[in-house]
Amino acid sequence: MHAYADLVEKNKRYLWNPFTQMKDYFDRRPVVIARGEGRRLIDIDGNAYWDGVSSLWLNVHGHRVPELDDAIRRQLEDIAHSTLLGQANVPAILLAERLAQIAPTGLTKVFFSDSGAEAVEIALKMAYQFWQNTGKCSKSKFVTMCDGYHGDTIGAVSVGDIPMFHARYAPLLFQSYKIPFPNRYRNPYTSSDPAFGALHAVEELFQREADQIAALIVEPVQGAGGIVPAPKGFLTGLRALCDTYDVLLIVDEVATGFGRTGRMWACEHDGVSPDILTVGKGLTGGYLPVAATLATERIYTAFYGEYEEFKALYHGHSYTGNQLGCACALANLELIERNRIIDHVAQSARVVSTRLNALRDHPHVGDIRQAGLMIGIELVEDRETKRPFPLTTRAGWRVCWQARELGMLLRPLGDVVVFMPPLASTVDEIQEMTSILCDAVERGLKEVVGK
Ligand code: PMP
Repeated sequence: MHAYADLVEKNKRYLWNPFTQMKDYFDRRPVVIARGEGRRLIDIDGNAYWDGVSSLWLNVHGHRVPELDDAIRRQLEDIAHSTLLGQANVPAILLAERLAQIAPTGLTKVFFSDSGAEAVEIALKMAYQFWQNTGKCSKSKFVTMCDGYHGDTIGAVSVGDIPMFHARYAPLLFQSYKIPFPNRYRNPYTSSDPAFGALHAVEELFQREADQIAALIVEPVQGAGGIVPAPKGFLTGLRALCDTYDVLLIVDEVATGFGRTGRMWACEHDGVSPDILTVGKGLTGGYLPVAATLATERIYTAFYGEYEEFKALYHGHSYTGNQLGCACALANLELIERNRIIDHVAQSARVVSTRLNALRDHPHVGDIRQAGLMIGIELVEDRETKRPFPLTTRAGWRVCWQARELGMLLRPLGDVVVFMPPLASTVDEIQEMTSILCDAVERGLKEVVGK
C-alpha cells in the first residue's frame, strides 16, 4: 500500500495532469483515487466521494460493474488488441453493427477511434474529403458555433471557440466561420427567439458561401461552453438549411450520447439525423477509450473505389478498434437496454430539477440549465444584469471545493457548476448528490460574498 504523502510527492516529481494548473493543484491537497465502487470514488486514505461529474461526463453504470468487468476479462482470454488497419476483429465488427442499429436513421457506417477529439478530427477529414472525392473541391471550410467545444487536438480546437482554452493556439489553427450559439440566457441576437436569430445567420452565410463550405458542426447541448441546451427546433432548422444548401451536418454527441439527455441521442429530441455523428465518452460505460464517427451510406460510397484512385480515408491510430474496449462497449450497450437506463434518466432528471428549486431564487444563481442528467448552474455577481463574478473570485471552484468537503467530486466550467452524475445512480443516490450540490452552492457563494 502506498502512503498518500509519498504518492503526492511522486505526482509532483513525475506526473503532469491534463487541463490543470499544477501549482494550484498542489496548493489544494490533491485527491488520489485508489478505487471505485458503484457511484463512488474512494481515495488512497479510504475517503469515499460521489462521482458527481461521472469521471468527466462519461460514467454510465458506476464503477466495478460486474457485467463490464466480466466482458473485459472474457475478451482478455482471447486477445487484448490487434490492428484494425486492413484487417478486422470480432468485437469491432459486432460493435459497429450494434451502433448502426441504434444510431439515428441513415447512419450505417462506423469508423472507430480512441477519444472524442479524434472522432471529431475524423469527422472533419471525412467531410472535407467527401467533397474532394465527389469533385466539389471548393467546399473545404467549416461552420462552427461560438463557445463550441469539440476536443483538444488542433483540428478539434480549430472548430472550437472557448477563449480560455483556445485563444492562445489561434496561430496554429485553420479558420472557420463562427455563428453565435442560440443561448437563451445570454441571447446574442436581437430577435427574442435566439434559435430564429441563429438560423437566420446560418442561412445568410450559406447564401453567400455554401460553395466554400464542407460542413457545419454543432453540439446539441453545448458542454464545455457552459451546459447550454440548443432551443427545441434549432437542430431541425439546421438540418433543413444544410439540405437546402448542400452542406454536411456534423452533430457532436460525444458528451450527450448514450442517454445523457434522457434519449439515446440528444438529436432525437428534434427528430434529426445528421450526415456525420461523433460519439465517445459513454460508449464504453466510462471504462475504456473508444470513440466513433458514424456516417451515411452517401458519404461512405464517396470513399469507395479502386486502390489507385486514392479515395480511402487516410486516418487510423495504433489502438483503433481495440478489442477490450469494443467488448466492453458491447456489454455497456446491452446493460443500457436491459436496465432501461434511458427511462431511468428521464425520471432522475425530474428528481434533480425539483430539488434544484431550492436554488432558483438565490441572488447569485443566474441560471440553471438542464438536459436530462446534464446540469449547469451559472453563478453571477449580479442577477439583474447577469454580470459575472471577476475571474479571480473563482466562484465555481469555491462551490466545487465545498462539494469535496461534503463528499462529492465536481469540476466547474468557469462559474458554471457542472453536475453530471452516473446515469444509473439510484433515485436515493441522486437525491443525496443533489442535496450536496445545493449545500455546496450555498456555502461556496456565502464564502464569495461574505455573508
Ligand atoms: N466533443 C464534445 C462535445 C465534448 O464534450 C468532448 C469532451 N468533453 C469532446 C468532443 C472531446 O472528447 P475527448 O475528451 O474524449 O477527446
